[in-house]
Amino acid sequence: MQIKEILSLSPSNQSLVIKGWVRTKRVSANVAFIALNDGSTIHNIQGVVSDGAVSEETLKLVTTGACIAMTGTLIPSQGQGQSVELQVNSIEVYGTADPEKYPLQPKKHSLEFLREIAHLRPRTNTFSAILRVRHALAYAVHTYFNQNQFFYLHTPIITGSDAEGAGEMFRVTTLPATNPPLTEDGKVDFKEDFFGKETNLTVSGQLEGELGAMALSKVYTFGPTFRAENSNTTRHLAEFWMIEPEVAFNELEDNMNLAEDFTKFCIKYALEHCADDIAFLEKRLLDEEKTKKKEEQSELSLTEKLRFVTENDFERITYTEAINILLQSKTHKQGKFQYPVEWGIDLQSEHERWLVEKHFKKPVILTNYPKDIKAFYMKLDEDGKTVRAMDVLFPGIGEIIGGSQREDDYEKLLQRTKEVGIEEESIWWYLETRKFGSAPHAGFGLGFERLVLFVTGMSNIRDVIPFPRTPKTAEF
Ligand code: ATP
Ligand code: MG
Ligand code: MG
Ligand code: MG
Repeated sequence: MQIKEILSLSPSNQSLVIKGWVRTKRVSANVAFIALNDGSTIHNIQGVVSDGAVSEETLKLVTTGACIAMTGTLIPSQGQGQSVELQVNSIEVYGTADPEKYPLQPKKHSLEFLREIAHLRPRTNTFSAILRVRHALAYAVHTYFNQNQFFYLHTPIITGSDAEGAGEMFRVTTLPATNPPLTEDGKVDFKEDFFGKETNLTVSGQLEGELGAMALSKVYTFGPTFRAENSNTTRHLAEFWMIEPEVAFNELEDNMNLAEDFTKFCIKYALEHCADDIAFLEKRLLDEEKTKKKEEQSELSLTEKLRFVTENDFERITYTEAINILLQSKTHKQGKFQYPVEWGIDLQSEHERWLVEKHFKKPVILTNYPKDIKAFYMKLDEDGKTVRAMDVLFPGIGEIIGGSQREDDYEKLLQRTKEVGIEEESIWWYLETRKFGSAPHAGFGLGFERLVLFVTGMSNIRDVIPFPRTPKTAEF
């Protein structure tokens, strides 16, 4: 039985075995207290070891980080916030953790330090809470789509498609398992292709997802995507997970409704299923806020912020309206944006965050971007200048979703591929879906880690994925 379940039991004489990792051990005159955690919950169970119940020798091995099994009976707890504790009769030590060497001693560790020991950080309260919230959100994703008659489509990870330049790619090369060919200077000679074809790791499953929508009507992908981002921002990873619904017969308006309904569902799901973890992360955030200047402190707590988003309509405005608002802002007039604002620019994160955090103070859906800054597959508006694109912007994050109604007119799509210099032969399979039985459709991509960032209140994307892959980390 895991600690989460045990903590909900009533005291009894029945003998129980509880296994986990020691968080702390406190020894006083005739008794030792062991806080044990097994990752099933943010809460520890307290083991009470009365004098003589366990040998001195064994007790010495019970140090922070050690893995043990405690056997005993559940008794009422005098401590705050827990109703039961374990009166310990015996302890088995599975694995010790030398206090001189184990890095996670009970004190506050910086997130930077914990990033360097990503193999151990899930044992901290903060990271175990984040991983449980991440799990719940992943579950929410599948639950939402399943409840709404979407089919889960698995799109290729290794692909010849470059998704029209959504990001820099990682090239896939082949290497024989034994005796790889060597270059003259003795280095491994990677073959430059995959069985004679140029391939890369997928940057987005969208184009293949669209093929699914053209047959099954409603599909979604949820898989890893790879971009050789060398930007080192707090919002970009080289390997991240993307959720991409594609829906036949949906137009831009439906796409916005889906994006809003879906994100709200996921946030509500996490609030409902991870209340304890979110409360813990909220407290952590409050401590962090105290170190900030008064005017920079958040007005809402994490839970309040999450509730607010689920209970209020997202603001919906066009790109052109957004540009006008930005142009009229004091920040622009005083020349305080690093990137100057004018119609036609690709909005920078500073502009997006100003709109969301300073102006509207809620999530914003921006639509109808200039065609020149968006991908070729987005449906042209009547004016011929803008496309039916939409980006969803979240407070504290900026862009969380990018999507659009897709161009369904074969001739127009062909024209756009030529304009942007894409060779017809390279995406003949995509073009065929517009040649045969084309249908209006729309979809979007949500960066899963950006959603986890928002729900956990963390501020660096490296802290919401178990094994962050960035230009600096390649351990795993
Ligand atoms: P950004 O402007 O933040 O670089 P993007 O416009 O390049 O994002 P899209 O191609 O629209 O990204 O991908 C869809 C979604 O995937 C984005 O809205 C974002 O949530 C997420 N995303 C994109 N790149 C990354 C990345 N490197 N790491 C994590 N998430 C990402
Ligand atoms: Mg990008
Ligand atoms: Mg973008
Ligand atoms: Mg985008």
